[in-house]
Amino acid sequence: GGAEPILRVEGLSAHFGAVRALTDVSLAVPERGMCGVLGANGAGKTTLLRSLTGLHRASSGRVVLAGEDITRLPAEKVITRGLAHVPEGGGVIVELTVEENLRLGGLWRRDRRDRSTLNEVMELFPPLAERRNKSASTLSGGERQMLAIGRALMARPKVLLLDEPSLGLAPLITQQIFALLRDLRERTGLTVVLVEQNAAGALSVTDHGFVLNQGRVAAEGSSADLLSDDRMRHAYLGF
Ligand code: ATP
Repeated sequence: GGAEPILRVEGLSAHFGAVRALTDVSLAVPERGMCGVLGANGAGKTTLLRSLTGLHRASSGRVVLAGEDITRLPAEKVITRGLAHVPEGGGVIVELTVEENLRLGGLWRRDRRDRSTLNEVMELFPPLAERRNKSASTLSGGERQMLAIGRALMARPKVLLLDEPSLGLAPLITQQIFALLRDLRERTGLTVVLVEQNAAGALSVTDHGFVLNQGRVAAEGSSADLLSDDRMRHAYLGF
């Protein structure tokens, strides 16, 4: 067998009252992996992501991060254990400057006064460094997504989860954001989980994909295999 995956989800189920949003979802992501979680509107992608990050209580199953069971931890503890989350839309606060937004991402860190992580993020994203004292409202859509990613990196995560980073972005900007994530993984060893409705885009940049349908993992495989599987594309991926 290979190394223990950095993120392992075992038999996760989640409900909203009587509505079942996730049923027995299992997946494993290797360290430095880049995987996609794909599915149509309502397939359960956001609920999965929120269940992983402690924002929604799973009704059963386990989430294991770097060997530690984090299933019942509150959201801020999940972040300190190494799982950071870029919410849908990015969640950038436009009343704050670029640097103030970045600092928010480091709030849960014990060494939050240490400037080295801030400097590293500025180095990774030169457009943010150039605008560090400007209002975040001056950023374009792509730059805001970059800021949201930088803010999540301020927590020094092992695994970065992104909820539909391509939402509302032009195709070219989406490609740039995906390429940036790939580059980040290569340069820093980060593990990336991309939750996307844009299956074609996500599969072109990830190594592995999990297809959610009605709250279950309907298929998984290498991204190349999923991309070339006509039946899969027509049934679940919409392209
Ligand atoms: P989207 O692309 O719209 O974000 P999704 O794949 O992320 O879709 P979820 O938002 O996780 O899907 O929804 C999964 C299921 O759970 C859907 O059937 C949805 O109607 C239901 N659901 C989601 N949020 C709630 C809620 N707050 N109350 C009740 N049902 C909900």
